Amino acid sequence: MTQIRIAIAGYGNLGRGAEAAIKQSPDMRLVSVFSRRDPASVTLLDSSVPVYAMDDIEQYQNDIDVLLLCGGSKSDLPEQGPQLAGLFNIVDSFDTHAKIPEYFTALDAPAKSAGKVALLSVGWDPGLFSLNRLYGEAILPVGETYTFWGKGLSQGHSDAVRRVAGVKSGVQYTIPSESAMARVRNGEQPTLSTREKHTRECFIVLADGADAEAVRSTIVNMPDYFSDYDTTVNFIDAHTFSEQHSSMPHGGFVIRSGVSGSDNAKQVLEFSLKLGSNPGFTSSVLVAYARAAYKMNQAGETGAKTVLDVAPGLLSPKTPAELRKELL
Ligand code: NDP
Repeated sequence: MTQIRIAIAGYGNLGRGAEAAIKQSPDMRLVSVFSRRDPASVTLLDSSVPVYAMDDIEQYQNDIDVLLLCGGSKSDLPEQGPQLAGLFNIVDSFDTHAKIPEYFTALDAPAKSAGKVALLSVGWDPGLFSLNRLYGEAILPVGETYTFWGKGLSQGHSDAVRRVAGVKSGVQYTIPSESAMARVRNGEQPTLSTREKHTRECFIVLADGADAEAVRSTIVNMPDYFSDYDTTVNFIDAHTFSEQHSSMPHGGFVIRSGVSGSDNAKQVLEFSLKLGSNPGFTSSVLVAYARAAYKMNQAGETGAKTVLDVAPGLLSPKTPAELRKELL
């Protein structure tokens, strides 16, 4: 079997998860990892895989079929995505929902002119949740769609708080409102504001000399991430942080509550995830979509794409005939 040659750009939680997910996929192999840090300081799970400096990435174009961009959405991907889309087939997990249309446009032109596929915003939300919102709307056009997240640690929001000046370590938990979820499951189709559906809670270790009130104010007023929610910021010491906030669980629900036409029957479509490790799962989604990006590019497709543009069968290592026989 010819294996798909995968590389990883950015080795944090997602990068590490992607390395492990590639190991579970016999049709792929990890050929290299790129980092902005000194390569000698980056330790992989598999020490036989080379780590190179991000500045040198251009010279490896012929060795890589798909590059997984595992940097943060707030400042890494907006800079790296458009540049790398002009060199490689890429897959990333850009999760700043409000900025996805402009990020799509920024990737589309370089990917098209390089003849590559740039698959953006892959993961669970955006990603698998987006697909289920689409299924719900398309199948039950008369109804309402609800997305609830958590309780869980949001990597995107944690990444954002860690970049606030004065923050030494930080995590953010998203908490769904139990009463709002009960009303939705009851078929009430309530109108819920962003603020009514979830709250956000941060646990922060301050850097020496940092001004707690300035940090709190920067976080709670951050547009796109916190300004539309009730956010509590807790300041804790480094020991408590490592004892109580080191794992990364998450999950959530997409619920479409609607009625079918002739019989006016109530129909509820629900998709849920209960994730022991958010980056472990997200990177597994990235790896499955890397397979699809490769196949799409092999078939002549180019430009920016999202999960909404990818046929499900392309995610599987099985042939279409095998899928028809085994899963249909
Ligand atoms: P991390 O903060 O762990 O890593 C981000 C980048 O920071 C890495 O690529 C790495 O780049 C750098 N980095 C990592 N560790 C260190 C370190 N010790 N010192 C200095 N730099 C370091 O972020 P995650 O991997 O947890 O998450 C990445 C993004 O994934 C999030 O911003 C979020 O947007 C997205 N995400 C999307 C989801 C979805 O459903 N779509 C779900 C979950 C996450 P380098 O190696 O170049 O230094």
